[in-house]
Amino acid sequence: TLRARVSNLKFWYGDGTQAIDDVSMPLVDKQVTALIGPSGCGKSTFLRCFNRMHDLYQGVKYSGSIKLLPEDENLIDLDPNIVRMRVGMVFQKPNPFPKSIYENVIAGLKIRGISKRGVLDEIVETSLRQAALWDEVKDRLDQPALSMSGGQQQRLCIARALAVQPEILLLDEPTSALDPIATAKIEDLINQLSGKVTVLIVTHNMQQAARISNYTSYMYLGKLIEYNETDSLFTRP
Ligand code: ADP
Ligand code: ADP
Repeated sequence: TLRARVSNLKFWYGDGTQAIDDVSMPLVDKQVTALIGPSGCGKSTFLRCFNRMHDLYQGVKYSGSIKLLPEDENLIDLDPNIVRMRVGMVFQKPNPFPKSIYENVIAGLKIRGISKRGVLDEIVETSLRQAALWDEVKDRLDQPALSMSGGQQQRLCIARALAVQPEILLLDEPTSALDPIATAKIEDLINQLSGKVTVLIVTHNMQQAARISNYTSYMYLGKLIEYNETDSLFTRP
């Protein structure tokens, strides 16, 4: 089953730079798709089309479509604020709010009108378990998120994004600011998400793509050069 289909997508920044040049690509439901390619090839730009983040800046232009299936809506035609409610995003640098661990996980839920304590508690536990953080923080949910290590903060950001059950989870180089142990924990949890959540992850690390993705897309100069099942592109160790 497909979760999304990108068709003939082109994207221009406000200064006229064309960063995406006619990319078509499926996004398979509940599978992890990695976006790889050299620095500046357009990976991050492509990812940010999915949550319409570029629209925070003046003068950007799109053509083509990103259809969110099965409803078949073109993300490019929707209100960017609506799109951001449906799509989760995690950045390279962990960015928890300066609030408690608990408050961070429920941040997106309050906006959606979910406020019953029992329901929130349940979502907090589920999300923190999915982010492989529950055992480490279950006894200190009221502590400041910023008191945690960088790796824990990044897993908290993943829990915060998962809590709202996004249709797609976008990860933009989520481990490149982390040490190898913190990176391995995040790679493990991404592997656990395979089969449950539709994930699109940018990484400059081909070995990482091989370890964590079901599908791999290779971009070059704003174009999609290769898209295939990861197993057929790499020989796994
Ligand atoms: P990072 O490696 O952390 O992703 P980048 O160097 O790619 O950082 O980009 C940092 C910021 O500068 C981003 O907001 C990006 O959109 C912007 N940026 C990158 N290249 C250009 C460019 N050619 N013109 C204007 N802004 C750019
Ligand atoms: P990657 O994520 O693969 O490193 P990017 O998506 O950051 O590549 O950049 C793709 C191209 O778009 C690059 O040529 C970059 O310089 C350019 N670019 C990135 N951000 C901006 C921006 N804010 N304004 C203009 N050009 C940009």
